[in-house]
Amino acid sequence: MAEKSLEQVKISIRVEIPYLWTAGKYLARLYNEIKENERFVANKCPKCGRILFPPRIVCGRCHVRASDEWIELGPRGTVKDYTIVYYSMKDPSTGKPRPEPYPHAVIVLDGGGLIQHYLEETDPEKLRVGMRVEPVFKPKSERVGHPTDIRYFRTVEE
Ligand SMILES: [Zn+2]
Repeated sequence: MAEKSLEQVKISIRVEIPYLWTAGKYLARLYNEIKENERFVANKCPKCGRILFPPRIVCGRCHVRASDEWIELGPRGTVKDYTIVYYSMKDPSTGKPRPEPYPHAVIVLDGGGLIQHYLEETDPEKLRVGMRVEPVFKPKSERVGHPTDIRYFRTVEE
């Protein structure tokens, strides 16, 4: 009986590697404001005046340190663009495939800053660029300090 050489032996093992990722001072502030207060915050570039959302330490255009002065945005906003997704993808907040089709939008928050998120409205006849929306947050007990603490943005009439 021939023996296998060591080069032919393959062992498959599953390794769990739990880890924590720090959001950093600026992103953590945004995530904590979403979790605790249902608010969006940004900071500003002292040189060009641009609102930095999500907040960050340096303005990517001017390469100068951003202000530590916090600005509240929204919570309402205006749909700048949207698409209807017909491909089922895993919802990061549930780990399950998201029922499709569903609209995914780029929203300009009041005061500035863009956020990408789901829309509650799914009727293509009612979706339009320029529609006013507001976030619907999960109950506080379910929030973890992440954009998925927002269920979706719903249409508001003003
Ligand atoms: Zn700048």
